[in-house]
Amino acid sequence: MISTMALVVEAQDQIAWRSRELDDSLVDEVLIAPTVVGLCGTDLEIISGLIDPGYIRYPVVLGHEWAGVVKSDGPLLGKLVVVEGIIPCWHCAMCRAGRTNLCEVYQEIGFTRDGAAAQLISVPSQLVHVLAPGVTALRGCLVEPSAVVYQALLKSSPAPNLKVLIVGDGTIALLAAHLLSLFSPNSIDMVGRRAAQANLAESAGVTNFHTSPDEVSAVYDLVIEAAGSPESVETAVRKAKRGATVTLLGLTGNSSRASLVVDDIVNNDLEILGSFSYTSKSFSKIVELINSSQIAPEFLITHRFPITDWAGALATLSQSAGARGKVILELNQIPGAL
Ligand SMILES: [Zn+2]
Ligand SMILES: [Zn+2]
Repeated sequence: MISTMALVVEAQDQIAWRSRELDDSLVDEVLIAPTVVGLCGTDLEIISGLIDPGYIRYPVVLGHEWAGVVKSDGPLLGKLVVVEGIIPCWHCAMCRAGRTNLCEVYQEIGFTRDGAAAQLISVPSQLVHVLAPGVTALRGCLVEPSAVVYQALLKSSPAPNLKVLIVGDGTIALLAAHLLSLFSPNSIDMVGRRAAQANLAESAGVTNFHTSPDEVSAVYDLVIEAAGSPESVETAVRKAKRGATVTLLGLTGNSSRASLVVDDIVNNDLEILGSFSYTSKSFSKIVELINSSQIAPEFLITHRFPITDWAGALATLSQSAGARGKVILELNQIPGAL
């Protein structure tokens, strides 16, 4: 065992940057020094305890969106890498069917085992992906949320030329707009909550940005809900055209309920999809797209904090003033690694 400094969520509303034991002797694992860790709403749910208890094991080191430099001896030593967070067992029926996001032995870095907001992390070597020369850790830390969005888009199987509405204006919503360009939509409208997000939305490829569902009179072929509130789920269903697909990406907290008019769902022949995390295949595809610069989501990073100011980073993530894209923590700063 070795000890490392880590941002540990001990239990609900208890978080500390402290020393944490790390088993550095696990077979088929590599040690990595994370350089950039992105934070997201799910991290806030982990801290507040709003996350579904079936998907978390306290105490846990925070951090599931990250990139880092390999420290273990071997062919990967010194490489800047990203790591799949879902750890498939490869034996269960879901894994064998390629649906590794639904592995029956749910294990995920930053949820059921320690995450990357630490000086060192140990991860299974088969989940490690090397970033291409010139690809920065800032771009790399967006592989994980991009894979989540990509998985949902694949499941929605958008045909070309669709009119798409995205409900929400946070990073998942903005990433959805950015990645939709891969599917050649006719237009991408967004209904967010805050006018300050308009420029980020435009950079992400949004055609029309609104701050209230009342401003949106059209109905859409594909509606993506990425705000994670019961009201936004209701908006998403209301704005779907007959025969449309509604894809739900946002988590609303494990105790909240949305109220839907079931007759509208039936009469409008809607397809309502949920999408959980990403498969190993989707993660690999995003690494390929990022390494070849076909997607370049780093424009989303608006706030950078040293790990020692984790409290400031979390406060920024919770606040509602000004434009806010991805909030990141920087660790072990190595020249050239960012
Ligand atoms: Zn996340
Ligand atoms: Zn499995």
